Amino acid sequence: MSKTKDLGSSKKPDRIRSSTLRPETLGRLDTIDTRAKPGFDGSKSDGAKLLTKRGERLAGLQELLYAGGRSGDTRSVLLVLQGMDTSGKGGIVRHVMGMVDPQGVSHASFGKPTDEELEHDFLWRIKKKLPDPGQIGVFDRSHYEDVLVVRVHDLVPMPVWQKRYEEINAFERELVDAGTTVVKAMLHISPDAQRERLAKRLDRPDKYWKFNPADIDERAYWSGYQEAYQAMLEETDTDVAPWHVVPADRKWYARLAITELVIDALEAMDLGWPDPDFDVEHEKKRLAES
Ligand code: ATP
Repeated sequence: MSKTKDLGSSKKPDRIRSSTLRPETLGRLDTIDTRAKPGFDGSKSDGAKLLTKRGERLAGLQELLYAGGRSGDTRSVLLVLQGMDTSGKGGIVRHVMGMVDPQGVSHASFGKPTDEELEHDFLWRIKKKLPDPGQIGVFDRSHYEDVLVVRVHDLVPMPVWQKRYEEINAFERELVDAGTTVVKAMLHISPDAQRERLAKRLDRPDKYWKFNPADIDERAYWSGYQEAYQAMLEETDTDVAPWHVVPADRKWYARLAITELVIDALEAMDLGWPDPDFDVEHEKKRLAES
């Protein structure tokens, strides 16, 4: 009997472990059910309740990270979000990172490079947006676009993008050595889920602004993208900066799973409240006398 079954429906698991979402656990992308809820057998409303509870834990840990950053701890966290159009990256930023103090979060999204960015190495624009000490940085798309859209559309010659896997691994190793915990997550959706989400954008005036006609053309390249994502997982899933695949047809599950990934990363940092750099008793006395 599997562990998930043992838990039964009466006792809901109270957290999703990062290891559950590793590519080595879930298998190749084309074998993963994008509606699955690995590590969680509750309903949508169970998920919402758990998200609220775990959001409090996330906020508490983030405050510790931030306090450390204000007191000389140089560590930070970088959450890298990748996924097809409509996979819910923006929603993660709003709903997951929205649960923590905004002053501790930095956010960067990476669209088509500007002319200036194209004149530099592909990591140039990325390095400018890395989180400061004590911050959680969130990348909505990232340096991985340079082995995804670039590979699918032959935007540079093959030997150039091929070399980037190694360059990315070296870059992330440096980042980790310098004190940044890198959390990488691919939001994995099905083409049908994408169609539904695009249809919604065309049905609702409050969603028109999100619609980009080019997203429909891009659907013709679906299998090329899946191949590129699979290669990305195989080439850049390292011990220092491992990948996670989050089935994302159910947005509520994806948000819960990403929350858990960030909590896991923060817990592994063994954070604590910084010691005061003043004499507490002396300051209390001064305050009483003031
Ligand atoms: P999203 O689809 O993420 O919600 P959007 O549709 O508003 O965003 P932008 O954020 O402006 O669009 O840009 C995203 C687009 O930029 C994607 O199509 C992505 O593939 C493309 N892009 C990102 N990085 C690169 C890159 N290095 N080279 C070429 N295109 C890139």
